[in-house]
Amino acid sequence: MCHKVSSALKCWASPSDNQNISIITIFSKIIAGEIPCYKIAEDDDCFAFLDINPLVKGHTLVIPKREVDYFFDLSDEEIAAIQVFAKRVALAIQKAFPCRKVGQAVLGLEVPHAHIHLVPMQSEGDMLFCNPKLKLTNEEFVEIASQIKRFL
Ligand code: 5GP
Repeated sequence: MCHKVSSALKCWASPSDNQNISIITIFSKIIAGEIPCYKIAEDDDCFAFLDINPLVKGHTLVIPKREVDYFFDLSDEEIAAIQVFAKRVALAIQKAFPCRKVGQAVLGLEVPHAHIHLVPMQSEGDMLFCNPKLKLTNEEFVEIASQIKRFL
């Protein structure tokens, strides 16, 4: 099955997909530019943008362009590529938002499009996904994205 949002997107035939329906994920629409986002970085295979409900300032999502639900269904090569891409983004986040470390988490319970959360941490409490999320203005998101991009 091939999810064709635009030619910019990668297609995926799932070996386990035995249904004849598919739903284009919100993240594929973001990659295609059909839904706005605060973009941080992009290459041929991966895309990074700010989480719209951040745990802390700088909380960023890194996704493969190929639409795959479960992170561990990505191929070894895709996992290697997304991790190298995420490393570049994480180092830029850390410079923009000085922190003890940038934490990485894979959940995927809400959006069925594999993604890595990158969260600048001062303590492990910053990685608790049940914490209340920040409510930021458009201007704040724009400023955060521009601060991170300065270090890429
Ligand atoms: P998970 O699937 O890992 O549980 O969480 C998905 C994450 O995607 C959440 O942190 C949520 O805030 C974020 N998210 C969901 N929809 C959008 C969206 O339309 N734009 C952005 N930038 N983030 C989103």
